[in-house]
Amino acid sequence: MPATTTGHHRDIVTATDLTELAGFCDEQAHAVSFYFSLATTPDNSHREEFIAVKRLIQQAHESIAPSNVPTSLAKDLEQILSTADEISLDPARLKVIFACRERQAWQEFEIPTHQSISLLDVGRRFRLRPLMAALQACAPFCVVILESGKARGFVIRGTDIKEITGRLSVEDLSLHAEDSRVGWSRHVETNLEEHEQAYFKRLSRQVHEFMSEQQAAHLVIGCREDLWGEVGPQFANLQNEFIGHFHLTNFEVGPAEVLPMARPLFEEARRQRCVNLLNEINESPSHAALGLDDVLQSLRDGRVQKLVLGALPNQTISECQDCRRMWSEAGHNCVFCGSGRVRYIAAEEGLIRQALTTDSEILLVEEDVIPGFGGAAALLRY
Ligand SMILES: [Zn+2]
Repeated sequence: MPATTTGHHRDIVTATDLTELAGFCDEQAHAVSFYFSLATTPDNSHREEFIAVKRLIQQAHESIAPSNVPTSLAKDLEQILSTADEISLDPARLKVIFACRERQAWQEFEIPTHQSISLLDVGRRFRLRPLMAALQACAPFCVVILESGKARGFVIRGTDIKEITGRLSVEDLSLHAEDSRVGWSRHVETNLEEHEQAYFKRLSRQVHEFMSEQQAAHLVIGCREDLWGEVGPQFANLQNEFIGHFHLTNFEVGPAEVLPMARPLFEEARRQRCVNLLNEINESPSHAALGLDDVLQSLRDGRVQKLVLGALPNQTISECQDCRRMWSEAGHNCVFCGSGRVRYIAAEEGLIRQALTTDSEILLVEEDVIPGFGGAAALLRY
């Protein structure tokens, strides 16, 4: 795993990063996972962030017998503490660090997600669930706001919004209408409407390109409600990507005002996607795995296309330190190779690691989003 130095964080986590993080294992159990963000801060002194990070470091020291904290681990913890100043600059942004000095590993990310989390874990593996949750919350999506002959494009990643200018054309439609004027106002109106529809159609193709450039899978449109009847049908080519539209009263709106109008549509689409996937799993028993044991076995066989993972608090699975395979029953020996080097690991972390290393898509479900679903389910490839 390539190491970066403190202060050189990245805000994009690649698929390669995830595979490497999932595959990482330190037999000495000195791999540190650190997550910190504060969605709201009581004052501007930023003492709270510093105190909270310091407390996490102290707790980590206390959890390992102090005499057993090796210098390398102590240095990693010290270096994490030194990022507290940086955290104070923007405590709402999630700081994530994965470190293991003995193995020259240091990965530092800043993710624009809006949540409060404070976690420091020292073990053989890196803790990945909070990272996966943050990445899902800030998957990029595009917002296009429209008026007759005018459009503006934005990209949203979590709490970040950026306007991208110069990609969507602006046309004076009234000029077209006047050019072909026949001296009868209704004709002018009809003509204007045709030009408007043609404009939205051209625009929908530009939006498609814009979305590919931004690597965004979803689209939200904002326009006046009375215009939507004309706009909607022209964007039929993007129906798979389209997740909703909102009523826009002022086209000259600032990006910070676009964000709260578009964001709830993205959240709802995410929830709906999980509901639809769970329905699909329920309705296709021959391509479904339900429950921890069944899902784990399908993951092991490389059959899982999509994994839906709820909360699995306090549930553990066994992992063999020799053949690296995982299974759900407790036991002293590996059920595959017979090795005696078996460890218990958190079930959700084990499932996520297996899914990442077998190229399965992961959808995390928060407890309150889909009532009644708590465990694990999967849609199978075959
Ligand atoms: Zn084994």
